[in-house]
Amino acid sequence: MTELFAFIFQNSFLLRGFVLLFLGLIIGSFLNVVVYRLPVILNRKWHNESINQLNIDITCPYEQINLIHPASHCTSCKTKIPFWANIPVLGYFIVNGRCHHCYSKISVRYPFVELATGVLFVIAGYISNDIILLPGLLVFISFIVCLILIDFDTMLLPDELTLSLLWLGLIVNLNGILSLSLANAVIGAVVGYLSLWLVYWLFKIITKREGMGYGDFKFFAAILAWTGYNAFVVILLISSMLGIIYYIIAKVSGKLYSDENISGHIPFGPFLGAAGLIVVLAGKYLNLALFQL
Ligand SMILES: [Zn+2]
Repeated sequence: MTELFAFIFQNSFLLRGFVLLFLGLIIGSFLNVVVYRLPVILNRKWHNESINQLNIDITCPYEQINLIHPASHCTSCKTKIPFWANIPVLGYFIVNGRCHHCYSKISVRYPFVELATGVLFVIAGYISNDIILLPGLLVFISFIVCLILIDFDTMLLPDELTLSLLWLGLIVNLNGILSLSLANAVIGAVVGYLSLWLVYWLFKIITKREGMGYGDFKFFAAILAWTGYNAFVVILLISSMLGIIYYIIAKVSGKLYSDENISGHIPFGPFLGAAGLIVVLAGKYLNLALFQL
């Protein structure tokens, strides 16, 4: 029975697409949790480390949570969310986009992230049915979605995600499944890190300001550990273009400066991540000819 399912799964895009859409919606729901909770967990850890070092007593403003406990609750009234409101995408519409208890608005981003993850999983299933590459692509998509959103929200690219993504890229490429060879993946990681590191220091020496963060270097290294160094130029071009377009739109629409962002800085990670996704998922169709899928 399982062998039959595996056979049909590998040979029928229809079944594969359906299973991957379902899986993507569920994983997307979990990614929403990670995006909200991981920065809180890290901030709490850093806060506790700081007060220990300084030997002072300040109450920690961050909730004590982990990725699983407590169960999903409304961020306004802390009421536990019933399982039917937690159903990916549908749940949002069942409760009409509001908390079932206090009626405060729920961000439309939650169902959007679930749907986007589902669609990206289906695209991964369209380009590969390989038993190693396909799960690899799903992991890549999940990490990239998390990193894009966390960087947008907090200007952080946590080591917990960037460094894990880098190691996973090298493991997936042990036989060069995406990068064509392990050497390409290793060189990619080094080139990715060093190139942005160099840009950072040149910018800092010339302008005395910081244009990027170390998280960006690690994120670029991680992406190139998956694609290999051949994708270096195209990812740099696409991410810079997306970043510039976003900057212009934000500036023209007056959304660049806010109370939380008085310096008007924009994160670079979301554009790196988007470029990585485009190259890995659409490279074959854009005639980029970087790797064989
Ligand atoms: Zn509520």
